[in-house]
Amino acid sequence: MAPTPGTPGIVSFVGAGPGDPDLLTLRAVRAIEAAEVVVHDRLVPAAILALAGPGARLVDAGKEGFGPSVPQAEIDAMLVAFARSGARVVRLKSGDPGVFGRLEEEIEALEAAGIPWEIVPGITSAAAAAAIGQSLTRRGRNSGVHLVTGHDAKGFADHDWRALARPGEVAAIYMGKRAARYIAGRLLMHGALPETPVSVVENASRPDERVLATTLGALPEALEAAGLTGPAVILLGLAPRRAGAELHLPEPVVAWEAFL
Ligand code: SAH
Repeated sequence: MAPTPGTPGIVSFVGAGPGDPDLLTLRAVRAIEAAEVVVHDRLVPAAILALAGPGARLVDAGKEGFGPSVPQAEIDAMLVAFARSGARVVRLKSGDPGVFGRLEEEIEALEAAGIPWEIVPGITSAAAAAAIGQSLTRRGRNSGVHLVTGHDAKGFADHDWRALARPGEVAAIYMGKRAARYIAGRLLMHGALPETPVSVVENASRPDERVLATTLGALPEALEAAGLTGPAVILLGLAPRRAGAELHLPEPVVAWEAFL
């Protein structure tokens, strides 16, 4: 489908989930199928991009965990330009577009240009707790869950370490691989127990999903030894539930339990 000049375009911010196309919402699938242009992050796998129609234009916005390789201003300008040409644009982001996805910056650019937009939510990476058979909250253990990032625009991100260090707290740490040593250090300094369980889920929901079960004290060394190369979410305060882990984890992961 070619864009129709003269008719106003729209930008749909669509959550692609953690990677498995089965974890897309129906609304996300419909939006991708109907898109004339798909501007996607690097983390969105080919199997999801393949849902776009044969005539759709796919644009890799090239953002990686550590800073964008396409400047944000350029992405904003691109969205505005495609929508102005009348295109139905899908801005496809991994997970949920509203979690560490610079969603508001892009919305503000569209609003400044008077372009309509909508949000289609997706499953955020914290749902990788499912891969370890765990629940993010549990009565009597934690009455809230923290979604935190390992780094922000200024470098390693600062957090309320004392609150995160309390026994029973659960946090899903995004973009945390490189910051792991810093995060573990801060938490231990603020009273967290070294034996606090930590699970790291790499490539959640993808065929190459791996789980690393470790403790807060051993996290930096365990991560270094594991040499993870894919996106990974660090689940602070959660150990794999054995039955779930055995049911869901592929072969090599069993050996990872040596870190327990
Ligand atoms: N909007 C996304 C997060 C983008 S930030 C969401 O809601 O999930 C990028 C970070 O997301 C990565 O550094 C990693 O921590 C996490 N992530 C994305 N996809 C992942 C996956 N398949 N498995 C594990 N972590 C993932």
